[in-house]
Amino acid sequence: MIAEDVKTNTQAMLLSGSVVATQIKQDVKNAVDRLREQHGVVPCLAAVQVGTDPASVVYVRNKIQACAEVGIRSEHHPLPESTTTSELLALVRTLNSRDDVDGILTQLPFPKGLDETAVIEEIDPLKDVDGFHPSNVGRLALGHPHLVPCTPSGIIDLLDYYKIEIRGTNACVVGRSQIVGRPMAQLLLQRDATVTMCHSRTRDLAAVTSQADLLVVAIGRAGMIERDHIKPGATVIDVGMNRLTEGDEIRAMFGAEADKRLAALEKRGYTLIGDVKPADAMEVAGKFTPVPGGVGLLTVAVLMKNTLKAAKLRRGLAS
Ligand code: NAP
Repeated sequence: MIAEDVKTNTQAMLLSGSVVATQIKQDVKNAVDRLREQHGVVPCLAAVQVGTDPASVVYVRNKIQACAEVGIRSEHHPLPESTTTSELLALVRTLNSRDDVDGILTQLPFPKGLDETAVIEEIDPLKDVDGFHPSNVGRLALGHPHLVPCTPSGIIDLLDYYKIEIRGTNACVVGRSQIVGRPMAQLLLQRDATVTMCHSRTRDLAAVTSQADLLVVAIGRAGMIERDHIKPGATVIDVGMNRLTEGDEIRAMFGAEADKRLAALEKRGYTLIGDVKPADAMEVAGKFTPVPGGVGLLTVAVLMKNTLKAAKLRRGLAS
């Protein structure tokens, strides 16, 4: 007879971004309804998109659709590939000055030649719903944030939803980008984790990551984090979003799930994979975010939360 406390199921528990994103959007919808009823305010998000990069088109479409779902008004500003930095800056200034616009999002990356930094710095920090303006980056670093980048903020929401302890844990963030890795580390530090950051120059990555109770990976390399990188029982958050197009790679990466992924390859010509090798994470980790279905869905939901927050902040209403 097997004792009850012996763990017989060795598979990691999957953390569903979909469930958490639905909850966030429902909360935003309720708060938007209250804001409209009590103050006559309907928040508005302006989405600026330059060029026709297919991924950017899809991202902007998803964001506009999410606005409709939660009752936020949206404006789409599609601009031609030939747009200059000064034209873009002029549009941002107009949106800054309009009282009926609460959030401004400029879909990145811009086509080559446009000055991304200048555009981000031109956005009114109170309307900077992506949280990329230096003022918002600084506020986060100082420990009193206003608007925080959506992906890491959504990861904190996911951890809270599943009641995963952050305080006092050894947390490791792999990747130091401005949109994910750095703000992620700041948020974990604020929640009293002991945070280590890794990047492409980290020596013996596995020796560092395998100490982590909470491992957040945002690298952009398909399945790079393997068994040896993961502490048994750790919570592994996979931010990566990569495409696999070769059957052999899919079989090596997905283990028991390979057949389902090979069917996706057959149908679409690719399957999505994160930066963590799923077959290994499922065996070694305690909890794991799948790709797709994990972190990806949280980003847009938190963008809605940030737009609502911006609408309240600017009007001096409690957030
Ligand atoms: P990024 O700006 O390209 O940054 C990648 C980071 O990974 C860099 O800090 C780089 O280090 C580090 N890195 C690269 N190779 C490494 C290696 N061999 N060992 C250790 N670190 C290494 O990427 P990002 O924008 O943060 O995005 C990362 C991934 O997350 C991508 O797959 C992206 O598509 C995905 N993503 C998903 C969402 C979502 O909503 N789910 C949102 C944003 C991003 P250095 O600084 O030393 O170069």
